[in-house]
Amino acid sequence: MPNTIERIELARVSVPFEIDGPRNGLRPGLAPWTRMEALIVRVHFRDGACGWGEAFGHFSNAGTAAILENLVAPWFIGKDGSAIATVMDQAERAFYGFGRNGPVRYALSAIDIALWDVAAQRAGLPLYRLLGGNRQEIQRYASFARYGGDTDVVAANTAKAAEAGFAMIKLHESTLPAFLAARAAAGDRARVALDVNCPWTVEEARTMARRIAAEDFEWLEEPVWPPEDYDGMARLRQEGVPIAAGENVTTLHDFKRLFEARAVDVVQPSVIKAGGITAMRKVYALAESYTVRVAPHCYFWGPGYLATAHLIAADPRSMLLETPYITLQAPAVNPAFDARSGKMTLPSVPGLGFVPDEAALARHTVWSAVVA
Ligand SMILES: [Mg+2]
Repeated sequence: MPNTIERIELARVSVPFEIDGPRNGLRPGLAPWTRMEALIVRVHFRDGACGWGEAFGHFSNAGTAAILENLVAPWFIGKDGSAIATVMDQAERAFYGFGRNGPVRYALSAIDIALWDVAAQRAGLPLYRLLGGNRQEIQRYASFARYGGDTDVVAANTAKAAEAGFAMIKLHESTLPAFLAARAAAGDRARVALDVNCPWTVEEARTMARRIAAEDFEWLEEPVWPPEDYDGMARLRQEGVPIAAGENVTTLHDFKRLFEARAVDVVQPSVIKAGGITAMRKVYALAESYTVRVAPHCYFWGPGYLATAHLIAADPRSMLLETPYITLQAPAVNPAFDARSGKMTLPSVPGLGFVPDEAALARHTVWSAVVA
């Protein structure tokens, strides 16, 4: 059978990056974050077709790589990779006991993206066209690194991103002076969203929401600890600041609980966490039924970045593509990743269009395996 999956290559690709700011805020209490790693899969079919995918991510990659090598990738060998809905459903059932959220699901996400890459190649269409879209041009938003509350850096980078044509910037700060510095620097040139990464109790978050309610921020993201306190977010939402969350939600039923709780205005599923393109399409449909906007999580540079771009291009409501505002020291690992421009033209080649310089990819590979 030509559609049989024959071999799966796995690689952890680690690329040094600059953030245009102080690094001490990236991982408080830990060593500075200086390399951004992508866990990349390449799925080969018997007839020679092959597709790229990516699993989340960053500091958890060693675990997900082991899960891929020893559990998930071997299961897919010999399966019909063209029957994506069927094979992904079977895989979810096969592995459900090992965690519905976490490395197993990240691993499944990577395989699913690679299967969609091949499906689009076989259809002779860029993936966004196969998904029903027709916009080749989309807009990016600049997702800043965490600058440790440095208001000068926040203001300077906000101004620089606005000048480069980004219609929105997102902070990863959690202090009022940083929020206001970005707001002032952006003026009416760019929207400002706030991603605070779950620091507050519901009451602390309500206090902050009251302070910023008049400042017209685009959204306040993951304000509450723990992230699964959907009822707490629903109470916070009554303060009138739009609430965003969802990058740490994976199953369809958990998204349904998030929506049922009326916890969010904007949902942020992550294609490399939640189950790939197959899962994202279901979340998009479910979110529409609750009139929740979808703004996918995308703090990565590899095949998952392109998968997210295609989903956005296929969505009739335009939303911006989250793009880490960083400089990769080896941009050839993914020429489609460009954090210096607010506009993106999707690749016109069939499939995902992930076309790395393979020598650059190999040079930055810190671990690899082949499962056959
Ligand atoms: Mg976030």
